[in-house]
Amino acid sequence: MPPTPPFPQGLASTAERESLLLAPYAMHSADSLGRKHPEPEHAYRGPFQRDRDRILHSAAYRRLAGKMQVFTGDRGDYHRTRLTHTQEVASIARTIGRALRLNEDLIEALALLHDIGHPPFGHAGEDALAECLADEGGFSHNRQALIIAEELERRYRRFPGLNLSREVLAAQTARADKRPTLPEGKGRPPLSPLLEARVVDAADSIAYDAHDADDAMKLGLVSLDDLAEIPLVREAKRRVQAKYGPLEGKLLRKGVIHELIDWQVSELLQYTSPLLAAANPRSAAEAQQCNLAIGVPPELATRKRELEAFLYQCVYRHEQLVAVRRAAQSRLRAMFAGYVARPELLPEKFQARGEEEGLPRSVADFLAGMTDRFCDDQYERHFRANGGG
Ligand code: MG
Repeated sequence: MPPTPPFPQGLASTAERESLLLAPYAMHSADSLGRKHPEPEHAYRGPFQRDRDRILHSAAYRRLAGKMQVFTGDRGDYHRTRLTHTQEVASIARTIGRALRLNEDLIEALALLHDIGHPPFGHAGEDALAECLADEGGFSHNRQALIIAEELERRYRRFPGLNLSREVLAAQTARADKRPTLPEGKGRPPLSPLLEARVVDAADSIAYDAHDADDAMKLGLVSLDDLAEIPLVREAKRRVQAKYGPLEGKLLRKGVIHELIDWQVSELLQYTSPLLAAANPRSAAEAQQCNLAIGVPPELATRKRELEAFLYQCVYRHEQLVAVRRAAQSRLRAMFAGYVARPELLPEKFQARGEEEGLPRSVADFLAGMTDRFCDDQYERHFRANGGG
């Protein structure tokens, strides 16, 4: 009997569970390169489970509830926030991951992290901050997720950040760099991201196409008839009606959105499973060497791009949204200039960070952490023309 049993009696270790459940090409916790700041193992939570929990309990994650996905401004409470988008991505990614026998804990950690760096007001906010930081290397929400995870979140006395596993940081770094990236400290040639990371990317794309279409219909920006001009949506509608008979209104809209997700996930699995079986990678490292596509088959991908082009043209660039976005961007720019001019308005943490990282970067970090509403409140309070100070 060891002095401190690593697991309470009767519980299988994470390594045991994973060796039973996961495919050889999955990222097994036992093969993790660990954390930058070494920590003892937890008695019954595996490393990626702890990563997921650290992200879930972070302030930045909670604030996703107050950040809109696409539809900013006062547009009711039906549509997705960054938080509900993130949960939809995690759910779809876990479904795919379980079917492919990948590491669901890692998948969930990656999904919960993937949008955590989004500033207020979606991509409009990101563009405004990128412009403000043009001379400082720019701003990207994917890069910001790393800054949050490694620097801005404070939970531990010994080190800043969440001290996530190297695999989680490497996957997010690959998103930020848009190129294959290695966990640091290993002298191997560049590799593709882990299969788990590629599953999260695929799930992200499936989720936002479907829910942006749903939100846009609910908000009355487009109708189902408009969307059904796109072959992908037309086919989804046909399938729903073939399965359930003549649906109308809300039920038809929801049926079509459900079908879009279910159809794409099924096609992805049918397309990917034989590719994986043929490549037969015997470890996660081998899977990284074979550049396997995790996504829907090419023909469906083309159909998906048609939907995305439609959403871009008719929804994201809808004049009502463009006007709201422009106003949000000009508020953000005014706030950036205002805080740089008057750093005493910043919380102490960001004043101190300004001395280390430079004031513009620290101001952007502060602004990026804000929810849409808090951002508007701070603008009203400090920066509106003739406002207080
Ligand atoms: Mg996303």
